[in-house]
Order: sequence, then C-alpha cells, then structure tokens
Amino acid sequence: MIDAHAHIGYYGSFFNVGIEADELVGLMTESGIEKTVICALDNDMVRTAHRLYPDRLIPIVWVNPMDGSEAVEQVRRYVDDGFFGIKIHPLMHSFAADDRAVDPVAEAAAKLGVPLFVHSGHPPFSLPWSIARLARRHPQVSTVMVHMGHGHAVYIQAAIEAASELSNVYLETSGMPMHTKIREAYRMAPRRVMFGTDVPFHHPSVEIQRVRVSGLSQAQLSDVFEGNAARLLGL
Ligand SMILES: [Zn+2]
Repeated sequence: MIDAHAHIGYYGSFFNVGIEADELVGLMTESGIEKTVICALDNDMVRTAHRLYPDRLIPIVWVNPMDGSEAVEQVRRYVDDGFFGIKIHPLMHSFAADDRAVDPVAEAAAKLGVPLFVHSGHPPFSLPWSIARLARRHPQVSTVMVHMGHGHAVYIQAAIEAASELSNVYLETSGMPMHTKIREAYRMAPRRVMFGTDVPFHHPSVEIQRVRVSGLSQAQLSDVFEGNAARLLGL
C-alpha cells in the first residue's frame, strides 16, 4: 500500500497530536503500508526523515503561497532536492484556495512537473469549489484534494463532481467518513482516487478499513491503495 497523505512533527493547540519519523515508519510496517507521502510545516524535518528512510517516505514541500516569491523559491529548492510534490493548506494559512496568490505556486508545480496537494473540506478557505477553480486555471497541474471534502457530505459530493469534471483533479480519502463515497468517486475518476491516512490525526487501521468496505473489487482496491498514487508520483 501507498499512503498518499500523512504528517510528521507535532501539531499543537486543539489538535495536540504528533509523530516522529521512526514512529511513523513503525506504524506503516505494522499496517502493511510500504510508502507514505509526508509533509510537515518544517520542511527540513521532512528532508531529514526522507534521508533516513528513502525507500519508505515520499517528501512533499509545504509552503504558504502568501509568502510570495519566497514560497516559489522554497518549492524550487526542495523539488530540486528530490521532493515529489507541493502541499498547501488554505485553512491553516488563511487564504482562499483559488486566490491569485496561489498562481505562482501552481505555475511552479506545472514547470517542475509535480503534483499540488491542497487541504480540502473547511469553509471559508478550503472548499472544493475553490480548489476546482484553481485546478481549472491550471489544467496541467495534477491537483490533489486532500480528504476529498472531509467531513461534510455536501463538500464530499462537490469534490467528487470536481474530479468527474476536471481530469487533473485527484481525490485522497483520509478523514472522509463515508465509505460509500469512495466507490462513487472511483466510478467517476477510477485513476484518480487514492488512499491516505492523515497520520497522526487518524489511525491507519480506521482509514484502511473504510476503503476495504467501500464495495470496490480487488483490482479496483489495488488502484486506490497503490496503483493510482504510484502513477501520480512516478514510483
Ligand atoms: Zn493532513
């Protein structure tokens, strides 16, 4: 299995969760996960973790587009250094996903040929419609809706519809409560639905089980658990 979305580091305030790279790799082994896409607000921590576990951890660089040219510079630096993609979190950094300030980061993703992972599911900044608008403006950028709308059925449906309308939109399943929606998403975009855990916010056993009972065949499950992420990330 490939986990398309997890974190290392500590997340404070109302989250109060954290995990170190060693612990994450232990949890992956225990859960049958071979590789995990990781990000952290401290990108150097992610680089160090990747150097320790080059075959297990797939680093992506987390930037705040509101930092302007510094964000683009960070993207270039880390992707040149072997990072596989970019992460942005509109809710955490308080910008709308389709803000024009995101365009330079999306253009860098296009130029460097790496996917853009966008946190989805929380108003007013991380709504699927805004992410879809960003994806529509940048058709050459593979845009991953992390959490595929997250906890709200209306947002989940909007995420699925975005993926069915736009061939560059990918959906990642972590934290999304409805197993039935994974099958619906697969029907609309069979090559663009990916399993993820969002460790340390969620436990792999829960996230794996939701995909397993979604009603997909073995071959379809292997797309979601592995094949789609492998294709997207060129693994
Ligand atoms: Zn996350």
